[in-house]
Amino acid sequence: MEIRDRYAPSPTGLQHIGGVRTALFNYLFARSAGGKFILRLEDTDRARFDEQFVYNLYDTFAWLGIHWDEGPDIGGPAAPYVQSERFERYKKYAQDLVAQDRAYYCFCSAERLDKLREERETAHASTTGYDRHCRNIPPAEAADRAQAGEAHTIRLKISLGETTAFRDELLGDIKWNNDDVNPDPILLKSDGFPTYHLANVVDDHLMGISHVLRAQEWLSSTPLHVIMYHAFGWEHPVYCHLPMVMGQDGKKLSKRHGATSIDEFRRQGYLPEALINYVALLGASYEEGKDLYTLEALAARFSLEKLNKAPAIFDYKKLEWYNGQYIRMKSDAELAALALPYAVSRGLFGNTGAGETGVEPSPEQRSTFLAAMPLIKERVSFLPDVPEKLGYLFSEPPIPAAPEFIPKKGDLPRTIALLQMGRDLIAPMAASTDEAAEVLIKAKAEQAGVKLGDLMMPLRVAITGARVSPPLFGSIRILGASRCLDRVDRALGVLTTR
Ligand code: GLU
Ligand code: ZN
Repeated sequence: MEIRDRYAPSPTGLQHIGGVRTALFNYLFARSAGGKFILRLEDTDRARFDEQFVYNLYDTFAWLGIHWDEGPDIGGPAAPYVQSERFERYKKYAQDLVAQDRAYYCFCSAERLDKLREERETAHASTTGYDRHCRNIPPAEAADRAQAGEAHTIRLKISLGETTAFRDELLGDIKWNNDDVNPDPILLKSDGFPTYHLANVVDDHLMGISHVLRAQEWLSSTPLHVIMYHAFGWEHPVYCHLPMVMGQDGKKLSKRHGATSIDEFRRQGYLPEALINYVALLGASYEEGKDLYTLEALAARFSLEKLNKAPAIFDYKKLEWYNGQYIRMKSDAELAALALPYAVSRGLFGNTGAGETGVEPSPEQRSTFLAAMPLIKERVSFLPDVPEKLGYLFSEPPIPAAPEFIPKKGDLPRTIALLQMGRDLIAPMAASTDEAAEVLIKAKAEQAGVKLGDLMMPLRVAITGARVSPPLFGSIRILGASRCLDRVDRALGVLTTR
């Protein structure tokens, strides 16, 4: 059997963690099994449809580097892959079911159905849904009425008093009493549009989908879908409902917990590799003792047996760790290119004044930025942290207050002496490698009988503007001796006139 699975989003919102997890698991499963991964747009809900969500979908998956084998943008043997372009098919299949007495015309008006719902609500009735009012209209009569143009929907005729059973690859055997399934749901609306259930089942069949891996919230639709497959006389796909994704508080992951749309993660400076790696772990375990996987490595390891039944807890801290790991794996040039847009938009290279929008770097700023990557690569978790940590290389940092300069257990006169001592080292250090600069400053500290840290602190504060900064030697080298000397002299000026 050829393995074919699909991601079937409704373009009614931005792509978020849950959707991407579903898509990724389908992608990995198809890849791991040598099958095909298909994208299908379920755009039957025209009221909530918005073109921008289709663009967002393409954009998101292009960024993540997840590609489908068949889909609206690339075509394939089961085209079209957009449900709104397939309406005639659904109509035909609904009519087929009516002809086989597996579905029937319902002539109930919206008013009647509303009234029914209200009456039951006021009576606090336990029964919900349709009352099967039109189920027993003789088929010939119903056909005549429909023929004569009376408005109608088509409803599935669920046989009562039976049970429907199916197996879920993760959850095991599942059984439902047909009487408890949503009573005779609509398949085709009065305007000829299909409902989600009809379009979903017909398309999974026509597209040869062998496996449906989808979010657990769809589990309650599955008995109905299985009944429909039986009614059509088709074999249903293998089902696997993926574990829920929760926030740390055990509630379904939502905006309350933090970013959920991929756009937002992207803006915040997450890397696609980190998101993929982390999302692949939401409900599945791979090998023990290993954390970092590329998309290919995940695909090589994925199997349905590796899914967990327990809900997955989304841990932003863990994702942050992944992001840091993938940042460290970038070359300096790659990281500089990735971080550059954040640096520009945060005004690292200056602002336009009027509108206060960041400007592009000059060639010199660009090479400084590149040279600075080794200083911060080990210290950032997100791309915007890069410009945040490097401000002092591009503009003069404000001179901090005197106490900031003073090493532990030191005082001002001693701090001034230490800074003067450090000043003498700037020119040779600016011309040295890290190792050579360290030898120089250590020798000086030893010779003067001071602690290395005490010698470095005032120098660091004068040059970077802060007690905690990227590595000092590299900073001195990148800034160059004359800028560093200026900064130290300005600091000495301020410290000595107090
Ligand atoms: N269109 C449905 C969704 O938005 C598809 C559910 C399914 O995978 O069957 O998730
Ligand atoms: Zn009816």
